[in-house]
Amino acid sequence: MKKTLYTKFILAYIIFGLFGFAVVATFVSSMTLEHLKREKADSLYKEATLIANTYASDLYNSQASIDVVQKQLNALSTYLGASIWIINPSGRIILDTSTPLDIDNPVLVENFDPTITSGSYYTVGDFFNMFEEEKLSVFAPITTNYEVKGYVVIHVSMNAIRKSCDNLLNISYIMLVILFLLSLIILIFFTEIVYIPLRKITVATEQFAAGNMAYDLQIDSGDEIGYLAASLSYMASEIARSEENQRKMVANVSHDFRSPLTSIKGYLEAMIDGTIPPEMSEKYMKIVLNETDRLTKLTNSLLTLNNLNTSGMLLDRTNFDINQVIKNTAASFEGTCKSKMVAIELILTGEIMIVNADVLKIQQVLYNILDNAIKFSPKDSVIKIETTEKHSKIFVSIKDHGIGIPKDSLKLIWDRFYKTDLSRGKDKKGTGLGLSITKEIIHAHGENINVISTEGVGSEFIFSLPKVENDD
Ligand code: ADP
Repeated sequence: MKKTLYTKFILAYIIFGLFGFAVVATFVSSMTLEHLKREKADSLYKEATLIANTYASDLYNSQASIDVVQKQLNALSTYLGASIWIINPSGRIILDTSTPLDIDNPVLVENFDPTITSGSYYTVGDFFNMFEEEKLSVFAPITTNYEVKGYVVIHVSMNAIRKSCDNLLNISYIMLVILFLLSLIILIFFTEIVYIPLRKITVATEQFAAGNMAYDLQIDSGDEIGYLAASLSYMASEIARSEENQRKMVANVSHDFRSPLTSIKGYLEAMIDGTIPPEMSEKYMKIVLNETDRLTKLTNSLLTLNNLNTSGMLLDRTNFDINQVIKNTAASFEGTCKSKMVAIELILTGEIMIVNADVLKIQQVLYNILDNAIKFSPKDSVIKIETTEKHSKIFVSIKDHGIGIPKDSLKLIWDRFYKTDLSRGKDKKGTGLGLSITKEIIHAHGENINVISTEGVGSEFIFSLPKVENDD
């Protein structure tokens, strides 16, 4: 049989029940019997002492006749459900409530030894072979003038004690059964709280392992099992998301590689088979070169992203003047700006502004953002680059008056390969990787980047950098 948690729990439950019965049947049984025996012996000892001090001593002091004492003791023995003896130290029975007195044939208890109780006041057994069944015999000495004249011995059947012990045990058994049945509630709780949710989790993990990441694992409880289920669901959704991202990435990469390759192949074939005459080939060669440029850019971006991801980005941090870096990057776009008739306005705080960062990577960030700003700006517009200082941070803002980003796309522009529908017509060369690289670089610095944009009005990208207070 498959040992499920449930069968194990049931097994433990049955063992618990059997063990409970075994304990009641052995320990509890012997303890109860011992207790009842002692209790009976105690109460009989009080009676025996009373008899010894009253009737029996009267008898020995000849203040009462044996007949009178016998009668009185007979009544008492019926009341106690026991037989009462008065014995001489030699073992001769003077009086026995269970048999009529026969003075001519005295009964002698052979080998009678009052020390048999060994320090106690009662003994259990056949009382020197006088009985066939087991008796509890309680002794009390009869003393006059500090001399033991005889003993009062009260015998009760051990069977009677055993019977009341059994009655008590029966109550214990009934209690045990009730307890056992009540503890079924624990089993129900276990089933509801642990077993069923665990089964659900197992089924869900099997589904996840089989690739069904959309499997709905529903456990609505606030305890550890609920937390485990929620974590598993979260893990599955994250795996699904990352798989989906990977799938999208491969699809996008293939697509972005295929279109330039197709056009390169097309132009080259046309040149070889003469569709494009040799005198026109220079023009088409330039197009081919352009396409290879695009492929190189795409490959470089992919490699950069891959490195950023795998190595957790190793930054080569130095202290440098961000103002200077902004000026240099802006200058590198001079040609493009001229041809597009776009102006770049710099509003920089302070002469020099030292920050601590990886200069080459920040240069790339500026390049990516500025490149987009110019790409999506209309002719004769101005792009403003501004630095501000706040709480030991430098904020760099690049603001354009271009096409803007639709509200729905604002969160998505940081994703790999994402391009807004607006931009597709304007920017055929874009890979959609620039901003995801930018974000990774800024986050690797422990800083933040944000965008504020209104469709048709313009966009502003702002990122922070750690300022160096006193640069040596
Ligand atoms: P790409 O290299 O193709 O420009 P990016 O990751 O840099 O890719 O940008 C992703 C998309 O975000 C762009 O395709 C464009 O749709 C949008 N975007 C980025 N910057 C701007 C901007 N300044 N104005 C309008 N849209 C922008």
